[in-house]
Amino acid sequence: MTISRDAILDWLKTFAATINENAAYLTQLDSDIGDGDHGANMNRGMQAVLTTLPGIADKDIGSIFKTVGMKLVSTVGGASGPLYGTMFMQMGNATAGKMELTLDDWVAAMQAGYDGVVMRGKAQPGDKTMIDALAPGLNALKVERDNGASIPSALNASASAAQQGMTATIPLVARKGRASYLGERSAGHQDPGATSSCYLLETAAETWNMTS
Ligand code: ADP
Ligand code: MG
Repeated sequence: MTISRDAILDWLKTFAATINENAAYLTQLDSDIGDGDHGANMNRGMQAVLTTLPGIADKDIGSIFKTVGMKLVSTVGGASGPLYGTMFMQMGNATAGKMELTLDDWVAAMQAGYDGVVMRGKAQPGDKTMIDALAPGLNALKVERDNGASIPSALNASASAAQQGMTATIPLVARKGRASYLGERSAGHQDPGATSSCYLLETAAETWNMTS
C-alpha cells in the first residue's frame, strides 16, 4: 500500500478546506495569545495553494510540495508563512521525483519537514509552538513504522499523538513567537500553530484512510 500522488493532492485540498472551516477559531486562539491573524494567514495561504494545484497536478510529489511551500512563503507572511513554507519545501526535497510514497517515504518527508521548521524557528518541544503537535505526530509515525503498521493505522496514531500534543500546549508558557511576549500570561491558552499543525496530520489520516 502506498500514498498516491492523487492522494497527496486530495490531502492538500482537505487541509485547505479544514483551515477554511476553522479560520475563525484559529484566529480566536491567536487573539488570545498573539495578534489574531493565524486563521486569516493560513486561510490566505492555503486558498492560494488551491489555485496552483491544477497547474502542477501532473508533476511528481516532490515538485508539488516545493510549489506549495513557495506559495505559502509568498502569501502567508507572519511567523507561520516561512515555517509552513520551509516545512513543505523540505518535504519536497525528501520526495523529489516520487510519484507515490511508501510509509518510509512519508516518515522521511515528515522528518525533513520537521527538521526544516526547527532549523528555521529554533523552537524545541515544550516551547508552545506548532512543534508541540508535529514532534509527537512524527514520533508516533516512526514507532508505528518500526512496528510494521499499515499506513492508515500509522497515520491514525500520528494524528492522535498530534492532538494530545496540541492540547498539551494549553498549560505551557510560550518561549517562541509573539505569544512569548506575554510570558506567564500565555499559559492557559491553546497554541494556534499547534492547532493548525494538528489539522495537517489529522487531515492526512482522514484522507488516506479512505484513498489508500
Ligand atoms: P504571527 O505570530 O507572526 O502572527 P501566525 O499568527 O500566523 O504568525 O502564527 C503563529 C504561530 O506560529 C504560533 O502559534 C506558533 O505555533 C508558531 N510559531 C511562532 N514562532 C515559532 C517558532 N519560532 N518556531 C515554531 N513555531 C512558531
Ligand atoms: Mg499571529
